[in-house]
Amino acid sequence: MRVTVLGCGTGTSGPEKATSGFALQLPRQTIVIDFGVGCFKNMQKAGIDYTKVNKIFFTHFEHLDHVNDLPALLFARHVAVKPIQLEIFGGPGFKKFVENLFVAFPFFNGLGFKLKVSELESFATKKFQNFTLTTKPMVHESSSTAFRIEANGKAIVFAGDTAPNENLVELSKGADLLVVECSFAEKETSNHLNAAQFANAASRAMVKKAMITHIYPEDEDKDFKALVAKGFKGEILLAKDLMQVEV
Ligand SMILES: [Zn+2]
Ligand SMILES: [Zn+2]
Repeated sequence: MRVTVLGCGTGTSGPEKATSGFALQLPRQTIVIDFGVGCFKNMQKAGIDYTKVNKIFFTHFEHLDHVNDLPALLFARHVAVKPIQLEIFGGPGFKKFVENLFVAFPFFNGLGFKLKVSELESFATKKFQNFTLTTKPMVHESSSTAFRIEANGKAIVFAGDTAPNENLVELSKGADLLVVECSFAEKETSNHLNAAQFANAASRAMVKKAMITHIYPEDEDKDFKALVAKGFKGEILLAKDLMQVEV
């Protein structure tokens, strides 16, 4: 599996960072996890054919930095006239969210390809053609869901934004790669992780590699790798737009 960082920023990041999004290239298919501001253009820069992405999973849709480029992708695929089905997934309330998008952009009702909208249960395991998906709710927004994706004996967890919680540790147990936010160096909040909390989750879950992403601009000058290394002995990656990781 190859992970491409489509965006590692937050809603207020500068021009060098798109907001949150990741592409995951599996044998015979490309799926996407989150698709915030700038991710669509970065996907094209990375050479990933947007007409062939067949699944997008949203860790949460309440925040634009994770979902903003969905309408842009739907519009482009409609115009590109390649009738490959796209299935989009989100947590509780996702169908209503997409219905509202269709009200805002009425032409979506006549899309030139099949769009399937699915809501994911909070604790579920679902088998797809060549990967298995397991979900657990996170502590951030009401739709917040983390995804564990397993294929070919490897496991990657995409957790999106979250405060510290046991579901994050359980879902990530023994994963080859954990991708989760690390918004702040030291500040403690009720809905994000700081470096010590990130390290604690990665260490307790005994993941092999952990990727730091979603750093707030106010802390961008901090040495996150050094801070996380105090509490996590596995490999630490610092996300950068267009970075690729093979798992
Ligand atoms: Zn965010
Ligand atoms: Zn968020």
